[in-house]
Amino acid sequence: MIIANNINKKFGRLKALDNVSVSCNKGECIALIGPNGSGKTTFIKAILGMVLCDSGFITFNGKNILHDWEYRSKIGYMPQIGRYPDNMSIGQLMVMMKDIRKPKNIQLDEELVNKFELDKLYDKRMRTLSGGTRQKVSASLAFLFNPEVLILDEPTAGLDPVAAEILKEKIIAEKAKGKLVLITSHILSELDDLVSQVIYLQDGKLIFHKKIEALREDTGQEKLSKAIATVMLKGR
Ligand code: ADP
Ligand code: MG
Repeated sequence: MIIANNINKKFGRLKALDNVSVSCNKGECIALIGPNGSGKTTFIKAILGMVLCDSGFITFNGKNILHDWEYRSKIGYMPQIGRYPDNMSIGQLMVMMKDIRKPKNIQLDEELVNKFELDKLYDKRMRTLSGGTRQKVSASLAFLFNPEVLILDEPTAGLDPVAAEILKEKIIAEKAKGKLVLITSHILSELDDLVSQVIYLQDGKLIFHKKIEALREDTGQEKLSKAIATVMLKGR
């Protein structure tokens, strides 16, 4: 579904992505893991077309994304920090987004809007929102247009435990429908019940891309955090 072919991205002399090749298929929930500065967000932005690679290319459903910008409407993106017009209310923002996207033949998915009870907060202005409520808005928007692919950058950061659980269940349900989910999180224990594969990046390089079962088998560790630690220690 999404294939990166030898992609490279430099910022000055720093190699943020160093010859990364990886293939992401539908029906998978893939964790993007790696230390701070390892290239996770750059990789996500390259897929979204927000960062242009210096060399290599990315395909979405077989087409080079450089020549086919429409693929972008098939991706729901939840940024690590959502930035919105300060003076708009939640309700106005929702109306504006629906207006911009003008979904054709798409059944809107308002499950998260309802479960997070955002309708009760429709008059609140974006600048007055707590970090957690802002995250709820970002999550609701990512799922709203029923996209084939969900890219979630630290989605549960700042969410209260109930909201985090609602979001996790939503991710599991959408994956079960055959969607592709790419997710980053610093809290590996949160990913345990979610992910089917792990992509590990370090210094912009792909260290491994493995199915979770293979990772568990290779390391003898059930928990993702322990399994990753075991792999990284072996590599030294
Ligand atoms: P991660 O998301 O894994 O923490 P990033 O992809 O954000 O890592 O960053 C990878 C490296 O690229 C970091 O060293 C970061 O400082 C650098 N970087 C990212 N974006 C830019 C940019 N726009 N300009 C310069 N350097 C950048
Ligand atoms: Mg990042």
